[in-house]
Amino acid sequence: MSDYKLGLEYALQQDQNDDLKSYRNQFYIPKDKKGNDLIYMTGNSLGLQPKSTKYYVNQELEDWANLGVEGHLEAKNPWLSYHEFLTESMAKVVGAKPIEVVVMNTLTANLHFMMVSFYQPTKARYKILIESDAFPSDKYAVESQLRHHGFDDKAGLILWKPRKDEELLNYADLEAILEAQGDEIALIMIGGVNYYTGQYFDLKRITKLGHKHGCNVGFDCAHGAGNVALDLHDSGADFAVWCTYKYLNSGPGSLAGCFVHERHAYNKKLNRFTGWWSHNKQTRFNMRDEFDQLPGAEGWQLSNPPILSMAAIKASLDMFNDVGFENLIEKSKKLTGYFEFLLKQLGKDTIRIITPSNPEERGCQLSIQVKNADKTLHDKLTEVGVISDWREPDVIRCAPTPFYNSFEDVYRLVEKLKNILSPS
Ligand SMILES: *Cc1c(COP(=O)(O)O)cnc(C)c1O
Repeated sequence: MSDYKLGLEYALQQDQNDDLKSYRNQFYIPKDKKGNDLIYMTGNSLGLQPKSTKYYVNQELEDWANLGVEGHLEAKNPWLSYHEFLTESMAKVVGAKPIEVVVMNTLTANLHFMMVSFYQPTKARYKILIESDAFPSDKYAVESQLRHHGFDDKAGLILWKPRKDEELLNYADLEAILEAQGDEIALIMIGGVNYYTGQYFDLKRITKLGHKHGCNVGFDCAHGAGNVALDLHDSGADFAVWCTYKYLNSGPGSLAGCFVHERHAYNKKLNRFTGWWSHNKQTRFNMRDEFDQLPGAEGWQLSNPPILSMAAIKASLDMFNDVGFENLIEKSKKLTGYFEFLLKQLGKDTIRIITPSNPEERGCQLSIQVKNADKTLHDKLTEVGVISDWREPDVIRCAPTPFYNSFEDVYRLVEKLKNILSPS
């Protein structure tokens, strides 16, 4: 895709030719005080609100108002089985079979529940391997699991680190760790797309490697779901978790997703925490039955879920079904490639893109290291209407999301960055 061109004219033309251009108008784009669209580059942090969401949520509010408890069975979308409306679309987005996917709880909570089942340490094999720059919540979660089982959280944590003066992780280093300590590692837990660098890992390769050494393998796909084609089933991973408020546009703090590979679907011996929602649906309300485990990922549910939040997820997933995820990915590659092309014009002495240059090893996000920059750069960008994300010491993360960002957005963002870095 080296036929990108400079200039606003080209950006406008790309937007004209974009088959998905009408989707931008199906989202609320935050505006500045004068009413102009902000350049929103933080779909990796909180996705924008689809205009349809309020109708989906309102349907449930109305059914609740009119039906009270009868809504569990009589609502237009009966609440009792509401999560089932999400399963198939969610499975498609993450490349899984419906039996492998459930929407429940929140992300870090799901990570813990997955570790209850897939982190079963013994004295000899108790360590957990994560990437050195894992998202803080994930790191805290695995450390607390180590302590929970009576292990030292320093001795028990193995970090997959980048080499000196590099940011990206190298598979040869992971292989070396596993060769040396594989038989001590109970669990490998990696962020499918690293939140900081935007590096999209080869999930299948990591899983194969882990399984070869007898480790369980799970992924936190918070930055992958709705952003890249995850193929979770094919990866062979034991489990995966993700949130729905980033690229899945389902609202702040919305419910999370969970994947458990099909091969574990009927294993009743796996240790787990349970509640009435993990119980056989047919006899759940008899209330006095012996516990009867639901098969598949659904069997990890505990509680009856918040329907208002699920309604927002349904609104979003219906849009993903409508657009066709593969079309979204195709545009994403073009848009991020264009972003990279424009950034390169700023020169190596000014910026360095940390994110992999291979489109297969990244999603839409580019993490840009700016020479001699500090947080004032981010403040200046905010002043001129760019919503981006700053990570200390010197990195701006920008995620042009194909659903609602335009080529013009990307063009204007780079122009503004250029003006700030070398005012004319
Ligand atoms: C966003 C994100 C989280 C946030 O966790 P919550 O439980 O939703 O607050 C955790 N891990 C990763 C990798 C994330 O990207």
